[in-house]
Amino acid sequence: MIINPFTRIGPAELGLLAATGRKEVIVATRVTVGVLSIGDLLEEPENFITPGYTYDSNRISVIALLKDKGVDSILDFGIVPDNMNNNPDIVCFRHCPRKNVFCRRVPATCPVCSSRIQDFIVDPFRVPYPFANAAHNPTSIAIRPSRGGFLDDYEVTRDDLHVGIVDSDGRVVEFDKDGLIANDVDRWTDCVVFQVIPVAWIVRWDETLSFVSKDVRWKSVNYDDISLNCFDFVLEFLNNLGYANLKFASKEDLCERLILSKIQKAIRYNSLYRALKHQEYLLSDHT
Ligand SMILES: [Zn+2]
Repeated sequence: MIINPFTRIGPAELGLLAATGRKEVIVATRVTVGVLSIGDLLEEPENFITPGYTYDSNRISVIALLKDKGVDSILDFGIVPDNMNNNPDIVCFRHCPRKNVFCRRVPATCPVCSSRIQDFIVDPFRVPYPFANAAHNPTSIAIRPSRGGFLDDYEVTRDDLHVGIVDSDGRVVEFDKDGLIANDVDRWTDCVVFQVIPVAWIVRWDETLSFVSKDVRWKSVNYDDISLNCFDFVLEFLNNLGYANLKFASKEDLCERLILSKIQKAIRYNSLYRALKHQEYLLSDHT
């Protein structure tokens, strides 16, 4: 044997192979290693850091370590958020009195007074993302647009909302033209969810859901965009659940008293998000 198996072929080994008359040997292909950091509160070292964030140092160390060990094919995937939705990270801060600045990245100079930012009246904070993954919110009511997603597609005046019930295992039960569906989780990653019952009512929640689901009314043939839709299902569920004042005379009553108030925040966030797609900052008066 000239060289032991699993030896890295370097200058000395190449010389040895040549000296013994070998021009080709079987080798293993070089590996490519992908590196990414997972975390909502990580920041790249060259960027401005907002309170609550930490600079991502581990990824840099791992990449350096790999290079040191001779891995020269490295893919740097950067920082990946650890939630499973599409939070675009909108930041708000106040540098000048009475002006809130909304942006995606805190700038070096203030867009209100144009001076270099040294400190803040209100430190940058992340505007709470109003959307959540239904699967992570058991025993809740979940709402999303019938088509597309809230952030990019939803228009209040044009699009219908679709509502579903999340059971204690995070499965969404929804009524649509295909009847009752219980497993379409991919479409419920960025929706408005709200809890309406205390922990003590979880068993009753599941029992009511399975009881109401058995009703033959929720067959696909009975579905109608206007007269029998997802809101009728949720209305029937809540009226059967009978928790506190969560009883509704009609779908209109359900929408007005429960659902519309819950989606106001989402609609405000949407307009902020859309404005920041086309401009770097959005200023609002702070009164
Ligand atoms: Zn300023």
